[in-house]
Amino acid sequence: MTESPFARGARYLCRKLSRHYIPVVHTEISAKIKTDRTPVTDLDQYALESFRRLIETHFPGQRTIGEEDLRSPDELRQLMLVMIEPQWSIDGLDGTWHFQAGTNSYGAAIARRLGSWVEEAIIFRPIDWALHRSGFFWAARGKGAWEWCSCTKCGGTYNRLRTAKHNHRRLVVMLEGSSREFWNNAALANIGKTLTTRPSLSSCIAATTVARGNAEARAVVTARQNPWDGWPIALFIDEAGGVVTDHAGKPYSAHDCSNLVAAANREDHAAILRIMEGGAA
Ligand SMILES: [Zn+2]
Repeated sequence: MTESPFARGARYLCRKLSRHYIPVVHTEISAKIKTDRTPVTDLDQYALESFRRLIETHFPGQRTIGEEDLRSPDELRQLMLVMIEPQWSIDGLDGTWHFQAGTNSYGAAIARRLGSWVEEAIIFRPIDWALHRSGFFWAARGKGAWEWCSCTKCGGTYNRLRTAKHNHRRLVVMLEGSSREFWNNAALANIGKTLTTRPSLSSCIAATTVARGNAEARAVVTARQNPWDGWPIALFIDEAGGVVTDHAGKPYSAHDCSNLVAAANREDHAAILRIMEGGAA
């Protein structure tokens, strides 16, 4: 495995930005409220611009779609029709609510898609970086999913990520999006009635927790068709050995940003689809 020049650049940038992601250090949280009432901090913008510059350096002229750009659904749909030019999604602060509330479920996620495929993605988990000297993730299509670790044992290397095999521990499903969206959706409400769920976890945390092979947290299901959430989740779980489809069980395609069922293995994936249709676990 050879780290791509972009991934190396992103890793250095995350190291440089890391202290801004620790709320105690980040003293200039001037919260604004987006139109959908989710908070925006100045870190959102700062990280977005930093990652955007990095992409511009490595891939001049390629289009970037920032989570903070507040695109209308129509505008997003138009962008998704573009099949021959690469596009990037950037979420410089995924899980803003968690960042402000003082929980650990936040980070950053960037992905590049070309046509139906997600080609490359990085995820940054700043709390892991601060506590364990790990938490920088890179995945590339056909090359696997990896986590950088510079603990004393690893000494600065990538470790390959593998999703968990099916086992008889309880299956916890991580639901990406607000809990209200889930209770209004019959298929997703079925998951809530049958399995243990963790709603509203941020995408970057959910994707990497499954990709790392957590024995219980073996699936992510999304209820929003946002590229900055779906693209990194799909690539990381796919490249770590999982199964990624839309809610109907068809292969995930990046250009229509389908809602995801991304599971660690075939058995868990089949069980979740069954439960969504109203079947038993
Ligand atoms: Zn290590």
